[in-house]
Amino acid sequence: MIRTSELTAIVTGAGSRRGIGRATAHTLAAAGWNVAVLDLDEAGAKETADEVATAHDVRTVGVACDVTDPVSVDAALAVLEAELPPVGALVNNAGITSPVPFLEVTDAEWEKVFAVNIRGAYAVTRRVAPGLAERGFGRIVFLSSVSAERGGGVFGGVAYSAAKAGQLGFARALARELGPQGVTVNAVAPGLIDTDITGGALEGERKEALLAGIPVGRNGRVADVADLITYLCRPESGYITGATYDVNGGSHIH
Ligand code: NAD
Repeated sequence: MIRTSELTAIVTGAGSRRGIGRATAHTLAAAGWNVAVLDLDEAGAKETADEVATAHDVRTVGVACDVTDPVSVDAALAVLEAELPPVGALVNNAGITSPVPFLEVTDAEWEKVFAVNIRGAYAVTRRVAPGLAERGFGRIVFLSSVSAERGGGVFGGVAYSAAKAGQLGFARALARELGPQGVTVNAVAPGLIDTDITGGALEGERKEALLAGIPVGRNGRVADVADLITYLCRPESGYITGATYDVNGGSHIH
């Protein structure tokens, strides 16, 4: 029997205080997982790790990691492999958005959005997946976005929508490859969630207009997404793979 208390879940980008990653670190720990927090922001990563260990009595580490830099990814994974039980789950949550319209986007902006959302997810997944396959159990979850499905229109522009759509293909193809090894791979596609990712750029009338298009009448909370991710990571969720789960309050029904 698979016991989450004997495994570690990695959550990338879980350093930000009001972010989906930190909330997910908490819900995974509440479900028994030991948790490794990787984030560009070392202080934030350590703060999340300490907070989660105290609240849920699980083992945690918080490590500085730039997912776009393979050397940094290797170093962070070496730390958690030395300090925590074997990895059983990976949540590819680190991400950045960009609202720049296509006719104004620069090569550098485009590359940056893809570097974090796609190459970063690749770098961590490429290093973690062999161990999951070898041990015969694993859960991988990608943080895509409703922007991938509806073609932007919330905050993210073309670069963000393209990168988040890329994650859907990544997850689906990987699900097909790793299914025989007991590793499931899924994506979640949140709508507008109340975090700091937009840097406060979605306020006032624009926010009101977006809220008017959400059937449940509110924007999303980090806990809404964290609960879904934790559900997909359960050992019992082994028959769910290659799926995209919407968590958008009905703002995009398809
Ligand atoms: P957030 O900005 O609160 O958190 C993102 C975290 O990623 C930060 O802690 C940041 O330091 C970290 N990060 C950025 N670049 C990194 C890098 N190169 N290496 C390591 N860490 C890095 O954002 P959030 O709203 O919690 O978003 C989490 C994920 O959910 C992202 O992938 C985002 O695209 C996705 N998402 C968010 C929303 C939303 O409305 N908030 C909607 C759909 C999808």
